Amino acid sequence: MAAPSYDIITVGGGIAASSLARAMAERGARVLVLEREKQFKDRVRGEAIMSWGVAEANELGICRLLQEKCAHDVPYVEAGSGLRDLRATTLHRLPLLSFPHQVMQETLLAAAESAGAEVRRGVSVEQIESGGEPAVVVKGNGHERISARLVVAADGRGSAARKWTGFPVCEQSNAYYIAGVLLTNVHTSTDTMCAVFNPDLGTWTGLIPQAGGQFRSYFVYPKSTGYRLQGESMLSLFVHESAKGYPPIADYCAAAKSIGPLASFDASDTWVEHPYRDGVALLGDAAATSDPTYGQGLSFALRGARVFRDELTPNSDWDAAGHRYAEQHQRSFHACHAVEGWIRTLFQDSSPESAALRAKALPLIAQDPRRVPDHIFSGPGLPVNEQVRARFFGEC
Ligand SMILES: Cc1cc2nc3c(=O)[nH]c(=O)nc-3n(C[C@H](O)[C@H](O)[C@H](O)COP(=O)(O)OP(=O)(O)OC[C@H]3O[C@@H](n4cnc5c(N)ncnc54)[C@H](O)[C@@H]3O)c2cc1C
Repeated sequence: MAAPSYDIITVGGGIAASSLARAMAERGARVLVLEREKQFKDRVRGEAIMSWGVAEANELGICRLLQEKCAHDVPYVEAGSGLRDLRATTLHRLPLLSFPHQVMQETLLAAAESAGAEVRRGVSVEQIESGGEPAVVVKGNGHERISARLVVAADGRGSAARKWTGFPVCEQSNAYYIAGVLLTNVHTSTDTMCAVFNPDLGTWTGLIPQAGGQFRSYFVYPKSTGYRLQGESMLSLFVHESAKGYPPIADYCAAAKSIGPLASFDASDTWVEHPYRDGVALLGDAAATSDPTYGQGLSFALRGARVFRDELTPNSDWDAAGHRYAEQHQRSFHACHAVEGWIRTLFQDSSPESAALRAKALPLIAQDPRRVPDHIFSGPGLPVNEQVRARFFGEC
């Protein structure tokens, strides 16, 4: 049989696929990126990479590129109890980076192409065949079957590739929706992200500055309210409800105008325990779609690309490398997933049981804020164990 024309095919050209494609093309691999969209548009997605993800972007050599083309440094976080300087208090001593998602995607895909990857746009992958020589069936002008040493499916939340390849999908249903919209004419600091839980209402309000005076505004609210915040006509309700959760929003957004769609999503988590088998790997949201409230998806996409790059050396057994990537993904996903669950229980859940937990834990946290595990900003490298949990809940 003829050798495949490519070492790696990626299904999708989002942050996960293009970061890996760039990194591997730079190391001499023959990479093909297949992306459905001819041009990316504002889709209400993640637009803030937490400090630990910025460290991963540095490792991948794309941090400066993002800063030159579209990213804005956000050094401070206001979580309702005073400003935190991320440059002084996170494990990697880094700010977070924010950007318009679609500009970031165009930037990274262009970078993958410059590094030598072949990028085809406006083509849709319709099937993946796993096995010793995995392949994709792609629809562009007609249908084409293309094989590679490795197929990396990075086709985002709701990944069809998971189903085609029969990966069992785990799901944790969370009781919240997240809505988002891009705003201009917001009057607040451009170096501070607001990220405030309101446990009385079960909400989270987020406001993240970007370059050029834009702000990405998010609001997480219980599904039990019975409505979805979507479309232009719901904008005033979106701002009103966000301000109930965090009152300063009313002033910040008094004259705000939307410059993109208002859309909402189910905040449930879905993931695959071991996202590699038989020549096919899942990367980014396809491997694990985590509750967007915690803003971990972009960082996990970058971490996955970096881990894979480090494993896929020219002389390594790529099947074994795929399994090592999957094991590392599983460990780091579960570390952050556990901490997200603890934070949701203590800071967001409005049930009487959680109120009782807060009565015990919050006075101790006020005395020593380091009781709050910092995985959201500092990443899965921090320990996660019973002692960390018990300290957070004020049990010791
Ligand atoms: C409301 C909301 C807020 C969020 N906030 C944050 C945040 O603040 N911080 C954070 O880190 N994360 C956040 N996230 C998560 C973040 O957006 C995702 O984790 C990240 O975009 C995943 O990147 P990806 O490359 O895996 O997938 P995507 O960005 O979805 O890219 C997948 C690509 O694959 C293409 N594609 C799909 N199917 C096919 C096919 N069959 N053939 C060819 N191409 C295909 C798509 O067109 C797309 O370009 C948020 C998510 C949501 C929904």
